[in-house]
Amino acid sequence: MSGNGHVIPSTPISIDMWNTKAHPQARVFFLSHFHGDHIVGLSSTWQYPIYASPITCQFLIKKLRIRPSLVKSLEIGEDHLIPLDGEHQEMVTVTLFDANHCPGSVMFLFSGYFGDVFYTGDFRYKPGLVDSFALPPIDVLYLDNTYCSPKCLFPTREDAIENILSQLHTCLVESQRVFIGLDNLGKEDLLERIVKERQFKVNVYPARKELMDIMGLSEIITADRSNTRIFVVPTNQISGKNLERWNNEMKTHAILATARFCGLNFKPFSKHPDIHVIPYSNHSSYFELKEFVKLVKPRCIVPIVGKHAKGIFNTDISERSNMGVFQKFLRDASPSEYVIPESVKKVMNAAEAKFEASVPLKKRKIARPQRRPWRKPPAVGVRYIVSEDSATDSDPDAIHMETKKFASENISEFSCENILEYSSPDISDESDIDTPVNVWEITHISGKGSRSVYYINDR
Ligand SMILES: [Zn+2]
Repeated sequence: MSGNGHVIPSTPISIDMWNTKAHPQARVFFLSHFHGDHIVGLSSTWQYPIYASPITCQFLIKKLRIRPSLVKSLEIGEDHLIPLDGEHQEMVTVTLFDANHCPGSVMFLFSGYFGDVFYTGDFRYKPGLVDSFALPPIDVLYLDNTYCSPKCLFPTREDAIENILSQLHTCLVESQRVFIGLDNLGKEDLLERIVKERQFKVNVYPARKELMDIMGLSEIITADRSNTRIFVVPTNQISGKNLERWNNEMKTHAILATARFCGLNFKPFSKHPDIHVIPYSNHSSYFELKEFVKLVKPRCIVPIVGKHAKGIFNTDISERSNMGVFQKFLRDASPSEYVIPESVKKVMNAAEAKFEASVPLKKRKIARPQRRPWRKPPAVGVRYIVSEDSATDSDPDAIHMETKKFASENISEFSCENILEYSSPDISDESDIDTPVNVWEITHISGKGSRSVYYINDR
């Protein structure tokens, strides 16, 4: 999976970007939150300091096994001075804001020789999230454009939670148990509300339990499966086939709390009335993005998700990186000129020189022939593969993926408009295909014959 990070031009400041080969000038690293698509390339062998919120620092140390001495915790709402060079001559002032996205998620305000840059990371806007009077005139706004399309309108998180609670009530009347599809991190407020309303704890799968224990939420979880009727499973386990299997054991309903299907022209699980999709989102809707930009009034905007990113099922979502839709809200000012301080230049040049020196060695390494494991030939259609650090969670709402076509050129025009329905198959069915973690299957595409099987394979 390609990451959703950036390096601020003409600085050594990197946010959610860990590819030091592609960006050798990066030397001061910030992490907005602990979702998989923001930590691509980060592992226990990392060797530079990382600045993040206190909760994210805990995840870095306990889950990713980053050396504690490298993890620098920054309190939200306070100004922090961080050196940009080796001599501590040039500093950047960093302020963290709650991003209202998942536990530990923050937005960054950077002020330095390059001006004032606001970086949202992933965020869900709500009134009061940022006090515009506390902000300086923003030169560049890096914006979470995951749902930056007029088609992407969905309820507030509070309304979505009410919808889920109401649906859950109906499900528990009609069935003996309910499976809720959630990924490893995020939407804990939903689980807390459920536990409060239903007066019994929830059972969660091990990877989510590990993070909830770190967050101090162990008291709403039960390991005793006979003691609850609500079970949290990974989103990719919610499928028609699995529901059938669960129903053979006892009457079961399923709820998928995600907005990832918003803005797409098809209805997921249309043939499975016992699977309920409710658009609970940890990203801002199109309307909320406009409200936020109006408030911040930056001089210019950079979309965090690039125009080459693809949506689920390889959907073209390039329109979501068109920041021209905010033109009328921008501050009218010409770009300020600045000079990169010599001490900072020295740090960036030294880093680039170190990278240059290592290139011949890397080239030799890449030239070595690769052994590919045997794999079952793909089904007729296209398989899209997303590489992802299996130790971490993907962003449950992020639908942008790096894709790779595997077969069948004749459906290259395949688009979301053709999809009539889809379901996610049982993972165990795919066990001979390189241990996939997240598999989506489209079973019906108009104009392409019936029952063709297409795979969207997330791993
Ligand atoms: Zn995220």
